[in-house]
Amino acid sequence: MLIVMKPSATAHEISAVVNVIETIGLRAHPMPGATRTAIGITGNEGPIDGRRFENLAGVAEVIRVTKPYKLITLDLRPEKTIVRIGDATIGGDELAIIAGPCAIENREQAFAVAEAVRQSGARFFRGGVWKPRTSPYTFQGLGDKAWEIMADIRQAFGLKIVTEAVDESNVDLIERHGDIIQIGARSMQNFSLLKRAGRSKLPVLLKRGMAATLEEWLLAAEYIMAEGNYNVILCERGVRTFAQHTRNTLDLASVPAIRRISHLPVIVDPSHGTGTAYMVTPLARAGVAVGADGLMVEVHNHPELALSDAAQALTPSEYAQLIKEVSAIHKLTSSAASQLSKQDQHVLWDFQTHAATDR
Ligand code: PEP
Ligand code: MN
Repeated sequence: MLIVMKPSATAHEISAVVNVIETIGLRAHPMPGATRTAIGITGNEGPIDGRRFENLAGVAEVIRVTKPYKLITLDLRPEKTIVRIGDATIGGDELAIIAGPCAIENREQAFAVAEAVRQSGARFFRGGVWKPRTSPYTFQGLGDKAWEIMADIRQAFGLKIVTEAVDESNVDLIERHGDIIQIGARSMQNFSLLKRAGRSKLPVLLKRGMAATLEEWLLAAEYIMAEGNYNVILCERGVRTFAQHTRNTLDLASVPAIRRISHLPVIVDPSHGTGTAYMVTPLARAGVAVGADGLMVEVHNHPELALSDAAQALTPSEYAQLIKEVSAIHKLTSSAASQLSKQDQHVLWDFQTHAATDR
């Protein structure tokens, strides 16, 4: 059930509706929008009789939700969600770049990559502290030792720190030292982890499970939001298919598909989406062209020596070139198109002509 308040509804009228929802034992999720506030209701297992709300002051409409999700929908919030992390945003006008090594390996490596990330103008440094690895015999991340390095990077470069929580106890540490909680593909349906992240004040970057339908992915986001955390960023990272030329099949159609249903920002991860460095830049360009709010890209100062995901890591100079190209596309496809400089027009022309011979 969804209650749409009149544009003229007062704060007092909104809280009176919230009060009724809570008194009957349900949870209210008021979402203020540009023109009106809508209030989502969760906690009911069966249908609710919506007529009790119809005559409350300030109520414009009571909508029965027929889809399995409620809080992620454009019905609840017709404007896009802009997630704010200090002075940086995801889902707003700027293209959000989240870049860094697959895993924090040592201080020298992490600082070299952070330097490249900062130089590119990106606001987010992503490095794995704990790694969910397919084999128990491969590098599992430095764990707590990586936090000292991360804290120094945050301090030295002013970058926001993103890392994956592989279990609930990791969330406590990210809350202490980081800025965004990443939930990985393998954990997309770890419901207790989703609920824990939902109780956090930090934004959550939710990757698509490797065999997840759009509906399952959006319901995972719904788990987080139902706990009261509305700052969820979706990340398309590819799904398993019969294709053998890539690690995963990057489903870029999910970006416009999500746009049609949800107000949540969505970013694209061309690194895990392809698994191969030479495909990362072309798919990053495509991700931005299709309307993603940002990218997650793996970068390593010595990809050939990386302890995890070596084949897909870009070198700092490949990464710098990627940023140039996607920035130009973003200007072209966003409201900033009119600001396109001659230089950007050249970059665009250049990659259109040379795309086929990349790397
Ligand atoms: C990662 O981002 O390093 C990662 C493990 O990705 P995914 O969860 O998409 O496999
Ligand atoms: Mn990785």
